Amino acid sequence: MLSATELIHSIPVDPLTGAISVPIYQTSTFEQEAPGINKGFDYSRSNNPTRAALENLMAKLEFGATGLAFSSGLAAIDAVLKLLKSGDEIVAVDDIYGGAYRLFTAVYEQYGIRVIFVDTSDTAAVEAAITPRTKLIWLESPTNPTLKISDIKAIAKLAKAYQCLLCVDNTFATPLLQQPLQLGADIVIHSATKYLGGHSDLIAGVLVAKDATVGAKLKFFQNACGAVLGPFDSWLVIRGIETLHLRMKHHCRTALKVAQFLATHPAIDTVYYPGLSTHPNHELALTQAKAGGGIISFTLVHDTNEAAVNIASNTQLFKLAESLGGIKSLIAHPANMTHKSIPADTRRAAGVQDSLLRLSIGLEEAEDLIADLSNVLNKLHIPATQAVHV
Ligand SMILES: *Cc1c(COP(=O)(O)O)cnc(C)c1O
Repeated sequence: MLSATELIHSIPVDPLTGAISVPIYQTSTFEQEAPGINKGFDYSRSNNPTRAALENLMAKLEFGATGLAFSSGLAAIDAVLKLLKSGDEIVAVDDIYGGAYRLFTAVYEQYGIRVIFVDTSDTAAVEAAITPRTKLIWLESPTNPTLKISDIKAIAKLAKAYQCLLCVDNTFATPLLQQPLQLGADIVIHSATKYLGGHSDLIAGVLVAKDATVGAKLKFFQNACGAVLGPFDSWLVIRGIETLHLRMKHHCRTALKVAQFLATHPAIDTVYYPGLSTHPNHELALTQAKAGGGIISFTLVHDTNEAAVNIASNTQLFKLAESLGGIKSLIAHPANMTHKSIPADTRRAAGVQDSLLRLSIGLEEAEDLIADLSNVLNKLHIPATQAVHV
């Protein structure tokens, strides 16, 4: 992992002017000295100095050869899927981000690409799903929203043995908690909309390829298909990454306290948080990642849509919104929001119950967040014998 010092000094001082902050090169094109002779930049879709600063920074953070920045996380995922051809198969985590599920099934299945969803926290299930047509294994770890952990190192070995690529969506962990390429993955993607940007003020995606050959193919698709990140948004992501160390420390510390509180509340059925010792993959989680992260999910004893809607609509500090990873704490009800595009039966089979709520822990004080949750949970109708006052 890059230290805070290494991270901060991986962001270059502008060689032209000495500007300490990366300049925003808000330009579409660049003057050429003679036809085809330029200073390394000819057109901003192909390459832009501000975007390049972000791409190089991300390659360093994830220990890869090539970093690429896209106009959204889904555009980054889309570029990876373009490595596949009709007839190829993907083995993907079943508890997958809803937008990725939609892209895989509603878009890529049209082109003859087959996706097999498995519980990737079971490495044997991953191996069983691999066929001679499998070209890509797709992981999220931790997953969204049930925070399942997959053994990235073991699955990377499988990918190598069966000659397919392993791509890990590292959005939840960030490169400061987990470096999938170091564990053997080939490609890492991020929704930079979340922790990398960190302030809920942009949509962006990043991918990093471990080797330059795969990186060059992905760069070709980035330019050929055109979903690049603009200079200003590239600058915003760099600015976010400058404080990623501090923010992740606070998110993780506060999330652990909130998770511990939830685990003791009688209105709560299950708390999903890799940093809790009760998490089924707690040990693995802390072997491959530095901490449990800033996302917590939980289900209610009264496992109904209505109870979850009641909680999600009545918190004061936790704002009801999609997304995660920003400075303000957010609450979401996946069944009605992020996972609405997944059929109910498929959703439940993947462990996303009707009452499941997801928290993104922001940068507020832990005690204030706990008081906010305590207030709404205590008002839920629960049998008198179980009622508590915290
Ligand atoms: C948000 C998210 C995405 C999609 O990113 P966008 O920036 O919204 O396109 C992909 N994966 C995960 C895990 C996410 O949370």
